[in-house]
Amino acid sequence: MVMETDTVSELIEHLSDKRLGVALKINGTVRSHMSEYLRTKGYLEIPPVIFSTVTDPLNHPVVDPSFDYDGVKYALTKSMIFHKQMLVQKFEKIFTFSPNIRLELPEKASTGRHLLEFTQIDIEQQGATREQMMKLAEDMLVSLFKKVNQTHAAELESLGRTLSVPETPFKKYKYLDAEKEYGPDFENVLSKKSSSPFWIIDIPLDKREFYDREKADEPGILADMDLVYPEGFCEALSGGEREYDMKKILERIAKKEQTEEQFKWFLEFAKYGLKPSCGFGIGIERLVRFICGFQRIEMAHPFPKVPGRRSI
Ligand code: AMP
Ligand code: MG
Repeated sequence: MVMETDTVSELIEHLSDKRLGVALKINGTVRSHMSEYLRTKGYLEIPPVIFSTVTDPLNHPVVDPSFDYDGVKYALTKSMIFHKQMLVQKFEKIFTFSPNIRLELPEKASTGRHLLEFTQIDIEQQGATREQMMKLAEDMLVSLFKKVNQTHAAELESLGRTLSVPETPFKKYKYLDAEKEYGPDFENVLSKKSSSPFWIIDIPLDKREFYDREKADEPGILADMDLVYPEGFCEALSGGEREYDMKKILERIAKKEQTEEQFKWFLEFAKYGLKPSCGFGIGIERLVRFICGFQRIEMAHPFPKVPGRRSI
């Protein structure tokens, strides 16, 4: 019972914190600005998928929430990667505000950037290259930061936060080069020493899932990208060009020791043929946290669900 009282009093304290009010206003600006920005560029907004027969396997361990309905097994959405890839066959440029459930292991609480429930702005474009999508992400963020500085100057000042508008193009590091120079914790090390967002590109194949495409000229390396915030805020988004060759998809599933059964509905769809596409997903709570300069992601959500902690 003590736990319950603590949980409720913690929530009341959290909801009374003035910084949460600022975060929610900025969250509103992020949503409306990004939506407007993408629509203007011809991207079609699609509704989110909350549960499905197929979801992202992810490349790290999480607890899997699933249930049976009418003899079929469904999982809560960890990301809409497969739904994006299916939709982009018919609608060339799409985006969605996708709520994701990822029951991260309790040790993730210490990162300050993991929630069990969060929302991605998830974008995909038929026939696009990684470079085109990186430019879209850069331009979109620059435009958002300008908008936030115009509309929320007083609120940012109340937080003691100065939000710099970064120069484009952002710096790029190849994954293996960065790892060699800065060690296994290179993302964190580079994030802490940078004052502007930067890219990690060319990610080794075993670090990601089968749906990301291997570079034609560099076996074992994916045409993937992560954007990293500066000042120690770490990963902002992940994305990449997608695998569309059925033979390679099946080889990659086997290489990961996953089963075709796990992805049955997507694979059935893919048999009709997939066109090349590229996309990325950017977490809204991490973005709001960065804009506000919060120490932890919790302050960017009214009901934060932190790994390993009870929440309402
Ligand atoms: P991923 O494709 O797994 O990298 O997820 C895409 C983006 O969603 C990440 O770059 C983050 O911005 C965000 N994200 C992923 N996992 C979490 C989490 N547990 N809590 C908050 N945001 C997350
Ligand atoms: Mg990622």
